[in-house]
Amino acid sequence: MTLDNIIEEIKKAEKIIILTHETPDGDAIGSSLAMKVALKKLGKEADVLIKEFPKVFDFLPHREDVKEYSDIENYDLAIALDCADFKRLVGNEHFEKAKQTIVIDHHGSNQMYGDINFVNPVSPACCQILIGMFEYFNIDIDKELGTCILTGIITDTGGFRYSGVTPETFEFTSDLLQKGVNVSDIYKRVLETKTKPNFELMKKTIDRMEFLENGKITFTYITNKDLEEVNAGIGDHEGLVEIGRDVEGVEVSIFVRQKENDENIYKVSMRSNEYVNVSDVCLMFGGGGHEKAAGAVIQGTLEQVKTKIINELKKVI
Ligand code: AMP
Ligand code: MN
Ligand code: MN
Repeated sequence: MTLDNIIEEIKKAEKIIILTHETPDGDAIGSSLAMKVALKKLGKEADVLIKEFPKVFDFLPHREDVKEYSDIENYDLAIALDCADFKRLVGNEHFEKAKQTIVIDHHGSNQMYGDINFVNPVSPACCQILIGMFEYFNIDIDKELGTCILTGIITDTGGFRYSGVTPETFEFTSDLLQKGVNVSDIYKRVLETKTKPNFELMKKTIDRMEFLENGKITFTYITNKDLEEVNAGIGDHEGLVEIGRDVEGVEVSIFVRQKENDENIYKVSMRSNEYVNVSDVCLMFGGGGHEKAAGAVIQGTLEQVKTKIINELKKVI
């Protein structure tokens, strides 16, 4: 069984690296740090590589151990978490050179790029996959480990709101509450605390929001000039795509953000409410994600990018 293979590889390895996707969210960071803590409990040290670490997650255990670079050439084992494809994996050169590779993920669009792939698209967060895995490995999920895991669950489920939540999500949270994890504190830190730049970007995003296709689609954007104006830091665009989706009658919300190194490249985020599979739409542009939350990177001017997306969405809306 795959889980037995995973523990076998972990036990064999001496030099281990933990990797996750670019522009890391709470699930990416939570699952990476949870893996670090779990490996420690198994007597293994591991490097965690995360660039562009958003400040909101600074409270997490072992934040100080996170590295931006690694000089080590050949790891025995590389573990990729919450990342559907090799090209979005930060530090993928280490993954490529590692003797053994493991992919643990919950994206339906996962490319199965590891030697061992443990992918469960029904799990609402990569962190939730880790619960069952760690239990199988007989690792005690204590306050520290639980805090990392719960952070990923809370961020990827929008605070237990999305349809992907399962009975296990609540059972686990209930267990953690009993163990003394401050659930409401984590919730407040990762979902309810806005930075000032994020708030300023939200105002711009709302102000520019267009309603298309009889109000079934919302479109809005942020440019590099905006990011500069509000003095935006890492992760300050998070959550902006959600605003449009919450408006009555909207099926898909689109948020695009200019890439800092090229004004004609846009990072696209899409969210849907009921029937549109935005992962399929994003796959048309070389991206992917989940049925109701997906992304892609598209080249062109803002107008061109907008037209490309809307034309694709018209087919399914
Ligand atoms: P985001 O809109 O960036 O919050 O991403 C929503 C979901 O889509 C996440 O699960 C991402 O992992 C996935 N995703 C975002 N951008 C891409 C991309 N360029 N390629 C593949 N998946 C993506
Ligand atoms: Mn993620
Ligand atoms: Mn995730």
